[in-house]
Amino acid sequence: MKLSERTARMEASATLAMTAKAKALKAEGKPVISFSVGEPDFDTPQCAQEAAFEAIKTGQTHYTPTSGIPELRKAIAEYYAGHFGLKYEPTQIVVGCGAKPLLYVTLGSLIDPGDEVIIPVPAWVSYVEQLKLFDGKEVLVDTSKTGYVPDLKQIEDAITPKTKAIMLNTPSNPTGAVYSESVLKGIAELALKHKFVVIYDEIYERMVYGNAKHYNIVQICPDIKDQTILINGVSKAYAMTGWRIGYALGEKNFMNIVSDFQGHITSNASSVAQWASVAAIKNAEPDIVKMVQAFEKRREIILGLLNELPYIKFSKPDGAFYVWFDISEIIGKKWNGIEITDDTKLCELLLEHKFVAGVMGSAFMTPGFVRLSYASSEDDIREGMKRIKEFLSEIA
Ligand code: PMP
Ligand code: GLU
Repeated sequence: MKLSERTARMEASATLAMTAKAKALKAEGKPVISFSVGEPDFDTPQCAQEAAFEAIKTGQTHYTPTSGIPELRKAIAEYYAGHFGLKYEPTQIVVGCGAKPLLYVTLGSLIDPGDEVIIPVPAWVSYVEQLKLFDGKEVLVDTSKTGYVPDLKQIEDAITPKTKAIMLNTPSNPTGAVYSESVLKGIAELALKHKFVVIYDEIYERMVYGNAKHYNIVQICPDIKDQTILINGVSKAYAMTGWRIGYALGEKNFMNIVSDFQGHITSNASSVAQWASVAAIKNAEPDIVKMVQAFEKRREIILGLLNELPYIKFSKPDGAFYVWFDISEIIGKKWNGIEITDDTKLCELLLEHKFVAGVMGSAFMTPGFVRLSYASSEDDIREGMKRIKEFLSEIA
């Protein structure tokens, strides 16, 4: 069978691939500790569980409007008004099967072949892959020398007449960096001047620690509102990854196109999951507060343990639930006679021999690094880090 050129260019999601490998080893009875997938280990908040049962019992089990049930779009609009002071009408909101497919339909609604999209890297695995599926061209801006927050001059230099959009993600997956007000203002001004779209993925907005603060770019620069698409969802903040509910907010006519596009792919997100999300958004605020406190504690634990590791270098992340560290000093060294040729080899060895799963930096367009997700129990964090330390002590 001759496959499309599009699929030949595509690479499978490394985060999901590493997670599948870890799960397969676990199924074989291996004592796997998984730091690979970015997925809170908490249960779905009780109020959301009950709303889902109720939806099933009362027959809320049919197709819904393509852009989502009015109750959910209203709850999202109220959340954005209360939390960010931003006014979006429910008609400006599209609910989809997760933030991931909404990013896909957003790109599909914007990108013609050859259009350029600026992406600060390290960046989450799916941005570039999704863009490639629409024959768009990624223009990567390296943030590794500027604290993982883009430098405005670099962004300006990356702009060309073909620039259609910029994809921003703060707090960042994989680095945990949180963009400052001034950087966001600077990017918004560039977008206004050069008339490109801002795709603003704030799925980790609730996970910020210490004195760090998350800003919504439209709050910072209201003039950018009509050329910004906000992306968010229940996966991370409400520990509801499996329910597959995300949302996008933007200018009404554009959101109609996003909705029509989605209508040809998924029709609508699960009706039951949408009702669960209404309850979560309205009533699970106390659950979020508890989960964020737990993440903050785990972050302290894992950072303390990272400090004890030889060879690696890292900076303290302000948000999300990832630690991201430089392993370039290890490359070329040997573990039990096996050469550690790159970040992928290191992750393979850690998984196969110590049963600890992380994700290689190359999956985030930045080789020479590793990402660990600390959205797992404190015991797992301690045990997993102990094994990584043991592995590093065996390097020659
Ligand atoms: N954006 C970022 C930055 C992510 O890390 C993820 C991973 N879940 C998503 C979007 C997609 O989230 P979901 O599809 O689960 O809503
Ligand atoms: N976004 C999470 C991660 O980076 C979940 C997996 C995925 O969708 O890539 O691990």
